Amino acid sequence: MPEEVQNGEVETFAFQAEIAQLMSLIINTFYSNKEIFLRELISNSSDALDKIRYQSLTNPSCLDSGKDLYIKIIPNKNDGTLTIIDTGIGMTKADLVNNLGTIAKSGTKAFMEALQAGADISMIGQFGVGFYSAYLVADRVTVVSKNNDDEQYIWESSAGGSFTVRTDLGEPLGRGTKIVLHIKEDQSEFLEEHKIKEIVKKHSQFIGYPIKLLVEKEREKELSEDEAEEEKKDEEASEESDKPKIEDVGEDEEEDKEKKKKKKTIKEKYTEDEELNKTKPIWTRNADDISQENMVNSTNLDQRLGDHLAVKHFSVEGQLEFRALLFVPRRVPFDLFENKKRKNNIKLYVRRVFIMDNCEELIPEYLNFIKGVVDSEDLPLNISREMLQQNKILKVIRKNLVKKCMELFDELTEDKENFKKFYEQFSKNLKLGIHEDSANRSKLAEFLRYHTSASGDEACSLKDYVSRMKQNQKSIYYLTGESKEQVANSVFVERVKKRGFEVVYMTEPIDEYVVQQLKEYDGKTLVSVTKEGLELPEDEEEKKKREEDKAKFEGLCKVIKSILDNKVEKVVVSNRLVESPCCIVTSQYGWTANMERIMKAQALRDTSTMGYMSAKKHLEINPDHPIVENLRQKAEADKNDKAVKDLVILLFETALLSSGFTLDEPQVHASRIYRMIKLGLGIDEEESMVVEEPSADAPAAEAGDSEDASRMEEVD
Ligand code: ADP
Ligand code: MG
Repeated sequence: MPEEVQNGEVETFAFQAEIAQLMSLIINTFYSNKEIFLRELISNSSDALDKIRYQSLTNPSCLDSGKDLYIKIIPNKNDGTLTIIDTGIGMTKADLVNNLGTIAKSGTKAFMEALQAGADISMIGQFGVGFYSAYLVADRVTVVSKNNDDEQYIWESSAGGSFTVRTDLGEPLGRGTKIVLHIKEDQSEFLEEHKIKEIVKKHSQFIGYPIKLLVEKEREKELSEDEAEEEKKDEEASEESDKPKIEDVGEDEEEDKEKKKKKKTIKEKYTEDEELNKTKPIWTRNADDISQENMVNSTNLDQRLGDHLAVKHFSVEGQLEFRALLFVPRRVPFDLFENKKRKNNIKLYVRRVFIMDNCEELIPEYLNFIKGVVDSEDLPLNISREMLQQNKILKVIRKNLVKKCMELFDELTEDKENFKKFYEQFSKNLKLGIHEDSANRSKLAEFLRYHTSASGDEACSLKDYVSRMKQNQKSIYYLTGESKEQVANSVFVERVKKRGFEVVYMTEPIDEYVVQQLKEYDGKTLVSVTKEGLELPEDEEEKKKREEDKAKFEGLCKVIKSILDNKVEKVVVSNRLVESPCCIVTSQYGWTANMERIMKAQALRDTSTMGYMSAKKHLEINPDHPIVENLRQKAEADKNDKAVKDLVILLFETALLSSGFTLDEPQVHASRIYRMIKLGLGIDEEESMVVEEPSADAPAAEAGDSEDASRMEEVD
């Protein structure tokens, strides 16, 4: 074709490997809900329009290339094409090459994995690859685009791993993007007017720009005598032709006859734009006027995000005026905690004009999963991101939004099943909130759910816990660790459980951060059963026994401390153990074993904290345990008993393990155990002699045995 000759040279590009894979998946997977492609393309257009409008707030001349902001859909049955045009920001050549095919996106792989795990193709938009859904219905896609900073280009691909880009000297767009879908033969229903209307209403009703559909209409046209004659001939020539037919029109016969004499009329086809989304944005309407159902159906401004769990629509008046609509989506976006750039959370409008997406100043980070809009009456239209940070109005809005979110969560708790879903998805956010938002900490604590030693299969709230507290109980006991099984069998909960107190099991890493900030709930202090100074309510007799134990084992404690030296801060008699001879607790302000594990696992941790936070270990010994009693007797008999020394270290290392710590040198511990095993089996070797014959100091050191050498290091 002559036009093509005029166009620039064709450059061919290979799709980035994962994108190519995704495209063939989209093309080859059997999937019936194909209509979502239109929602994706319209939402891209809407994003592009948002961008140019935002730019125009500070640079009005960017609209010189076209002031009208709209989206237009043109079905063409003859050509089998569906065209979507927008007057948005458009794409430069580099944009076309990068954004539509060569730059890898984390969402591509994530989406394919999600599909394999049973996700629905309709979730494609959440993964940032919605454009490729065009290939659900089209076998070839042509994108013509014009950005203010570049020439007009054509991008085209029939999939198969590659696309082409060339300059376009055809009809100028002015500014924006035109996407032509060459609809697959079996998908021609998407060229039907009623179908398009239905899809737009369902998925894109609340797009903030007019969506116009080019519709075919018929009207009557009067014909002159000559034309009428010609028509008649035509009609005779081909009866089946679908050319406009002359028809008699009229209600009663009288009139009919009259007309027949004077004029012939013809039904003439013509086209016209019809706006499909005339409804006003829902948040601009009065909250009371909208039925719950209507609200639920229409709040999902970005319908790519799928369903939602709860919604709140409200307005604030007085010194400051705004309307807002907030909702909790049903699912976590796949990149909630990965991606710094989180789109489409809270959209900011000023007097119905869209200002920006993802307005960070409007909502604290831990609530980043909340979606919605805020429409302010007071902010200036040309507000920039820099100005937002200082803005007092915004601070007040933010405070209100957080308050409303708390109400939203409160309402969610009323429906147990829904709340469970919510909690599964967003508990991390609530916990982050407890760590960060001191003003709402106690409110947020109400939403926490944990398994406890008494909660059975269901997790329970702290309120439930408090309602079950024993009369003499003043604190809420908790234990942090890796899993429910691990903490439930922990040495630390032995006595607490035996005494009938309930223990909260906290098994997520973020729980460590929660308890750093959450010191109490409902006036009851939160007490870790793994920290020093655990006090269980006790009666006179128990108190007396503890005093006696303390006196009795004081000597042993001193001996152990001198052996372990700076490995522990303190050695004390325990009141938390039943079955185990000893355990390691951590000081009030040091890390727990669980926290130490988490910090060690973090590659980018600040190593300087490692030392002072992790070093504060206390060894607690169980006065009722035969091993401890035996040790006491041995130590009393001979303070420098070498066997005591060796056993104490072995006990200490074992306690570290059973208390959830890791050993710095596990092989040294292992060799100690092997020696014990040999001893148990009666194998009489040099090594075992060391343990048995404390006076044989010199020969052991001279043996040069590497196991022994390391053992000596440990002891010193
Ligand atoms: P997402 O919209 O989540 O970024 P898509 O796959 O839908 O992912 O689109 C990819 C990118 O292509 C967009 O981010 C945008 O840069 C560009 N794009 C797509 N459609 C348009 C359009 N109509 N106008 C301008 N840019 C567009
Ligand atoms: Mg998109």
